[in-house]
Amino acid sequence: MSIKVNRVNKTFGEFVALDDVTVDIPAGSLTALLGPSGGGKSTLLRVIAGLEKPDSGLVEIEGREANHLPVQERGVGFVFQHYAAFKHLTVARNVAFGLEIRKRPKAEIKKRVAELLELVHLENFAHRYPSQLSGGQRQRMALARALAVEPAVLLLDEPFGALDAQVRKELRIWLRKLHEEVHVTTVFVTHDQEEAMEVADSIVVMANGKVEQIGSPDDLYDKPANDFVMSFLGPVTKLGGQLVRPHDLELFTVPEQDTVAATVERVTRLGFEVRVDLNVNGRAGPEGGPDEVWAQVTRGTAEQFALEPGKTVHIRRAPDRLVQPARSA
Ligand code: ADP
Ligand code: MG
Repeated sequence: MSIKVNRVNKTFGEFVALDDVTVDIPAGSLTALLGPSGGGKSTLLRVIAGLEKPDSGLVEIEGREANHLPVQERGVGFVFQHYAAFKHLTVARNVAFGLEIRKRPKAEIKKRVAELLELVHLENFAHRYPSQLSGGQRQRMALARALAVEPAVLLLDEPFGALDAQVRKELRIWLRKLHEEVHVTTVFVTHDQEEAMEVADSIVVMANGKVEQIGSPDDLYDKPANDFVMSFLGPVTKLGGQLVRPHDLELFTVPEQDTVAATVERVTRLGFEVRVDLNVNGRAGPEGGPDEVWAQVTRGTAEQFALEPGKTVHIRRAPDRLVQPARSA
């Protein structure tokens, strides 16, 4: 089901939580709402769900005005960061819950629960209790429970937010695969740009209640609408007062057109990548000191240039980012 949010405003007292927000979510897509904490992501998700009423503006679900539709009639499944499972019920019963209250036939419930547990890779955990699951398993159970009633729209509010980094990474990939299997229109809140980039087809960047940009991960990364989006979506450094991606800096051993001289301050190996901290000579930085810039290069480039503290290199923003930066001398 497609979702349209048109010019929605929402205030809490004096505070503007959503400021003229317009978002189109195509049917079957996996859309991330990405932005810093307090930016209005959860409020927007709650407005879509019908848990929060907008002050003005329109919410449409599948072309139908939904402003006055109660939550139960919107066909939404919800998963929150801290999922409140029924502690006294087994995993299977937790997943079955929505179907049981809808009084579906027992055989149907049994079959559906088995399918769902398989889908979320918990088929061997059906008879455990939530306290006997890991954090990641519990969130997968939450997703199975939300999917049980076949929602038209799945709304996930930082579903992996409470888990440790490694488990989050695994669950991201898992969510992507799950979405490819079930194709339910999914809106997923996160403040983690890597998570959004890896999981979503489309990203809505929000800050201070406003939409900053909407686009595919590539669009946002390569064609950010402003400095905020550029800084939020990936690493940045500053050269000549302009934001630039550290991997878009070209290094030369001799001056070239538009290059500036820089002294290597520090070389840090981070696996395949090397971070090179540089001091740009003769340029005043914001505090009046030298302009500090960092470049991200491959190990190969670092070796080729024999980069080490004290060495002088010449740098510029790559005129065409597709050109290989390492041109050996
Ligand atoms: P995000 O999910 O992006 O972190 P939220 O949508 O939760 O942001 O919140 C946006 C802002 O609105 C926050 O500053 C928050 O304090 C405020 N807010 C959210 N819900 C309420 C509420 N029910 N009452 C008062 N303020 C709220
Ligand atoms: Mg939130």
